[in-house]
Amino acid sequence: MATPPKIYPRSEHMISRSLISDNALKVLYRLKKSGFQAYLVGGCVRDLLLGREPKDFDVVTDARPEQIRAIFRNCRLIGRRFRLAHVHFGEEIVEVATFRGLSGGDEETGERVLENGRLLRDNVYGSIEEDAFRRDFTVNALYYNIADFSVVDYVGGMEDHRAAILRPIGDPEQRYREDPVRMLRAVRFAVKLGFTIHPESAEVIPRLAGLLREIPAARLYDEVVKLFLSGYAVQAFEQLRHYRLFEALFPDTEACLAQEPDGFPLTFLAKALERADQRIENAQPVAPYFLFAALLWEPVRMRTRERIAAGQNEILAYQEAAGEVIARQIRHTALPRSVGLPVRELWSLQPRFARAQGGRALRLLAHPRFRAAYDFLLLRAETGEAEPALADWWTRFQGASEAEQKAMLRAGKRSSGRSRPRKRRSGAKAVKDAATSPP
Ligand code: ATP
Ligand code: MG
Repeated sequence: MATPPKIYPRSEHMISRSLISDNALKVLYRLKKSGFQAYLVGGCVRDLLLGREPKDFDVVTDARPEQIRAIFRNCRLIGRRFRLAHVHFGEEIVEVATFRGLSGGDEETGERVLENGRLLRDNVYGSIEEDAFRRDFTVNALYYNIADFSVVDYVGGMEDHRAAILRPIGDPEQRYREDPVRMLRAVRFAVKLGFTIHPESAEVIPRLAGLLREIPAARLYDEVVKLFLSGYAVQAFEQLRHYRLFEALFPDTEACLAQEPDGFPLTFLAKALERADQRIENAQPVAPYFLFAALLWEPVRMRTRERIAAGQNEILAYQEAAGEVIARQIRHTALPRSVGLPVRELWSLQPRFARAQGGRALRLLAHPRFRAAYDFLLLRAETGEAEPALADWWTRFQGASEAEQKAMLRAGKRSSGRSRPRKRRSGAKAVKDAATSPP
């Protein structure tokens, strides 16, 4: 270290202050006026250099948390080990961190703790240079200096940014081992920015992908949500599979996909992700539970089929398969209850579409999860797994007037061959049905 940084003066980069939020600017100027250094860093600088409006702004400074608090009235300190300041402006929060050291403490006294190459704690203050080297990718370690509007670069991030390359700082394998989540971040940023993961650092990923299994499942859940709600879910999925990261996150799903490489399950999931991307493009919300329902649908279907073949009734088979799949999945990506419950509801409504006669159809329509379950049914129909006539019936039914609905219910037919009498068939015929018409 101790190499001087490259400084890109205001005339050599295209960061426009008009894309920086007023509140972030206020924080930067106030720190500067109080005699401290103040920079924007991380994702916001990366995005500003692309001319994009960042979603949030991270500030770093040489001021200590207590000093930051003394400057801003609207400030709260958060974090136990590494304290950060949150400066509140109504809805907007500007996060202000003190430069963090790389190895400022003694590794043996626990300031920076490594276990099998993994970083467990990292909580010492440091210089701006140290702060730069502990970051993950070169393009994430650029500092926008409010004192002269220059960009300060210790790691070659500006050149990589111009070449659209995502490159870990330092030795890729070591950096991924320290924190395997960086492999997921590499994929996320690559697809979001349209950057290429530097070949030498890309090539080690498949070999190290399994390290994700040691990461707390709650953290992986958060990363997965970010990956698939990025607006680039289709690409993220392809890249995750390419790097064998997907199988570390969703082993049951991967096992199903691997069995039918060009078949239906891949199409269904790809369609679901495509739909999510479209919705984000149109500024419509995408619920994480819908994503997880799609991501885990194939294992649920497979287990349901097995249970039905073994003689279990359809509704129960779905319920138990769903419980089993979720119980296995939470060891990898811990779905919060607020997600796990609607996922199960959405699945459990699927077999009900084909069985809803009379009052049941109206109850299904009034179910709080009807809309999502119906969207899910449409996807299944589009990809050949459910009968298009069934999806059509429900499309018409929900758009119909009360009188029309009554007429539709009297006519009875949900779709060809699926409006079965209540009494279920049993024995060989049921098994055959289960095999030919997937649940
Ligand atoms: P996003 O647009 O998703 O917010 P970001 O780059 O700002 O992207 P954050 O997770 O907000 O990502 O992190 C802010 C910065 O903190 C990063 O740019 C990077 O410099 C650093 N950072 C975050 N996570 C890690 C990590 N796991 N290892 C090293 N540095 C990290
Ligand atoms: Mg960020």
